[in-house]
Amino acid sequence: LVIPNFPEFSKDVEDIFRSTKSNTNGDIDESLPQHDDAENPPYAISVCTVDGQLLQLGDHDLAFSVQSISKVVNYAIAREELGRKKLHEHVGVEPGGEGFDAGMVLNEKDLPHNPLINSGAMMTASLIKQDLEMEQRLQYVIDVWEKMTGDKKVEYRKEAFETERKNADKNFALAHLMKDRGAFAENVDLGTVVDFYLKCCAIEVNIDDLAHAGATLANYGKCPSTGKKVFHHNTVRDTLSLMLSSGTYDHSGEFAFRVGLPAKSGISGGILVVVPGVFGIAAYSPPLDEHGNSVRGLEFCEKLVDRFNFHNFDSK
Ligand code: GLU
Repeated sequence: LVIPNFPEFSKDVEDIFRSTKSNTNGDIDESLPQHDDAENPPYAISVCTVDGQLLQLGDHDLAFSVQSISKVVNYAIAREELGRKKLHEHVGVEPGGEGFDAGMVLNEKDLPHNPLINSGAMMTASLIKQDLEMEQRLQYVIDVWEKMTGDKKVEYRKEAFETERKNADKNFALAHLMKDRGAFAENVDLGTVVDFYLKCCAIEVNIDDLAHAGATLANYGKCPSTGKKVFHHNTVRDTLSLMLSSGTYDHSGEFAFRVGLPAKSGISGGILVVVPGVFGIAAYSPPLDEHGNSVRGLEFCEKLVDRFNFHNFDSK
């Protein structure tokens, strides 16, 4: 067993869950159709180890849209389909670049800085199964989510997509800029790219599914419950590297420093964290800090590595 005394571990995690539950700071993103009871926001934590031990705390059956966490799965899909070299002819791997200064939006090669910011995520989305129709492309991505979550049924929420589609000007602006600079592959239609990207953001999971998907990454690409190989281990290595350097918006350096684990957050309040070889852990709580990360989720991660030596650079 990767965690020999799971009951004791669970008790400590539950203590951290309880102590962070009292933190009700942060603001809920009102633009998303979701659980937005500001007085009593939902909170859930889920752990899934690579050998199938589970811990589920709080509101773990609530469904929420994955939002930016979709960028991780889409990156892994595109990385698998195109290979590292071809994919990274269209997108970089450096952190940063989400600043509003137009000169900073693309890197010195006129490409998006990395696949985990909006521009780079639209770029990776544009490269997934280019020859399929939209619905089949989306189904293809959903199928991968299902494989990662142990054959759970995963769906996308049209309402979340439609709300976001009405406010997609910034994403369209980024897409137009990338087109102007010749960053896209040939024959890419911008309307299709933005819609497909936003539909992937509107894929819904609950926290247990998300932890399970994380456990597939922690297990180097093999789903722990079905034993099916979803990604090659080199794809997972690249994905986790990007999560470590760029997974929590403009807080990524700070997160790598304090928590030292690959993670990806989204504006619906989810955060997925991977301890390679050990487990996927996911937190969900909608109130966000000024960078767009779940306030409780971040506090939970910091306390977790204070209590256990999961930080990448802890002595083991
Ligand atoms: N669908 C959102 C957007 O592209 C994702 C935002 C996020 O979670 O960061 O604006």
